[in-house]
Amino acid sequence: MFDTLPQEVITLSYWSWSQIEPYYQDLATRPLDSGNIVTFLTDWTRLSERVDEMQARLHVATTLNTTDQEAEQRYHTYLDEIYPAAQAAEQRLKEKLLSSGLEPSGFELPLQKMRNEAALFRQANLPLFSQEQKLSTQYDKIIGAQTVEWAGQEVTLAQLQPVYQDPDRAVRERAWRLAAERQLADREAINELWQKFLNLRQQIAANADLGDYRAFCWQKLHRFDYTPADCRRFHEAIEAEVAPVATRVYEKRRQRLGVDTLRPWDLEVDPLGRSALHPFHDALELQTKSSAMFHQLDPQLGAYFDTMINEGLLDLDNRKNKAPGGYCTAFAAVKRPFIFMNAVGLHNDVQTLLHEAGHAFHVFETSQLPYYQQLQVGEEFGEVASMAMELLATPYLSAPGGFYNEAEAARARIEHLEGGILFWPYMAVVDAFQHWVYENPAAAMNPANCDAQWVTLWQRFMPGVDWSGLEQELMTGWQRKLHIHQVPFYYVEYGLAQLGAVQVWRNALTDQAEAVASYRRALALGGTVSLPQLYATAGAKFAFDGPTLRVAVNLMEETIAALEAV
Ligand SMILES: [Zn+2]
Repeated sequence: MFDTLPQEVITLSYWSWSQIEPYYQDLATRPLDSGNIVTFLTDWTRLSERVDEMQARLHVATTLNTTDQEAEQRYHTYLDEIYPAAQAAEQRLKEKLLSSGLEPSGFELPLQKMRNEAALFRQANLPLFSQEQKLSTQYDKIIGAQTVEWAGQEVTLAQLQPVYQDPDRAVRERAWRLAAERQLADREAINELWQKFLNLRQQIAANADLGDYRAFCWQKLHRFDYTPADCRRFHEAIEAEVAPVATRVYEKRRQRLGVDTLRPWDLEVDPLGRSALHPFHDALELQTKSSAMFHQLDPQLGAYFDTMINEGLLDLDNRKNKAPGGYCTAFAAVKRPFIFMNAVGLHNDVQTLLHEAGHAFHVFETSQLPYYQQLQVGEEFGEVASMAMELLATPYLSAPGGFYNEAEAARARIEHLEGGILFWPYMAVVDAFQHWVYENPAAAMNPANCDAQWVTLWQRFMPGVDWSGLEQELMTGWQRKLHIHQVPFYYVEYGLAQLGAVQVWRNALTDQAEAVASYRRALALGGTVSLPQLYATAGAKFAFDGPTLRVAVNLMEETIAALEAV
């Protein structure tokens, strides 16, 4: 599949650390001054992007065929032998650059991130990170072992998902209760794990001489452009501006389903009893029709996508022995993205491809940046690239060469917009919960307090669904949100990015060419400017406030109303 790429890139996948190390050695021992800084950074970039691409290609190979033992072996060898050594060598070069005092242009923000990482680094925390990783693996194990018996078969809770779309309410309720009962059986195990996580994280923060673990995460996630107080403002804005709209979305669903109250098992089924949309038959049709949509949106974006088709950079169809899920990764040396999916012919696959294509366009647009270190972009904007693409492209779902007739496209777009509205309040619960935890670590050490706090937040942000009689299931919701356990504080990014994406889309409604041009200009900046500057370049505001959110959510609700009339 990679036969269109240069031979040296293919053979690169087989480099050993002893072949790579001399290049790092050379960079580490060279004299560095203002006269040779550009050459130094350029050579460093060539090396970093090759090592990065090696990892990406080795990882991709394991996901294309999970039974390919040679691929797995090569990837594990990379992770065991090359990755830690390369990380250490990269760190030495960062320290060398920092201690040189040189500030090459376009490098201000990468340098700020390097200084930040150096300030946060403590040798004593390395074993604690390993311990944290092991707790994380234990969490995965607990969740992964959760199976139930359904229709005579042992199935995972993920495999039970399609049942929630069953038109028979009693069937949905039975599946939902079965899953909930199985999850509650692990309540004590997760509580125990949680206490270990909290102890460890407080120690990590103390080792880094920080007052609390939130301060540690803030620095680790390079959150230079906003504060916990901004997040609190965002939660308040969501409560005031989005929760009432979300309540109306739920109420419409309740009426259409013809039920007294909306229960947790009523949220996935089509409220009008229609069967699922079937936008395409195979991966070829998916990529051909997607290409047509991108070309109508913008000729250059269409050309990027066609490059991916022509160079074999899309692997979209579901096959036996592929890894689950979907992703977009970058091959840093050849400056190309790669999209992996498991498309089975549903609308969700179209939406996923639009999303991942947004990430892919980001890779194309940043290919002109001279240095590898300029490519690191916070997900607060990285997800604007993908989420905005979902919104920008959907008007073409029913255009000539598209997937749907008008009514089908309207249905798909309504579902997408409703999903976006409902996401914000849930995101607020998850984010506010974590702020509470690390503001009150002693209280959060007692899982009963976590249960109570989750319920308080749920009642504040999530009206519209009737959980009566399901109190235990509701209060343990925090146990089931893996981000809270495995990637603390990493979640508000999606809420912020969605607000950015809606603003980009709003601009496109009045001047599409200019909106797309601004979007592309912002992508092309990579990680060379701050989040507010990236957003501003894209024609949006990096925002936490009620008025910005109100405009966005009103547009979404009005668009839904207009589409309902199609
Ligand atoms: Zn994404």
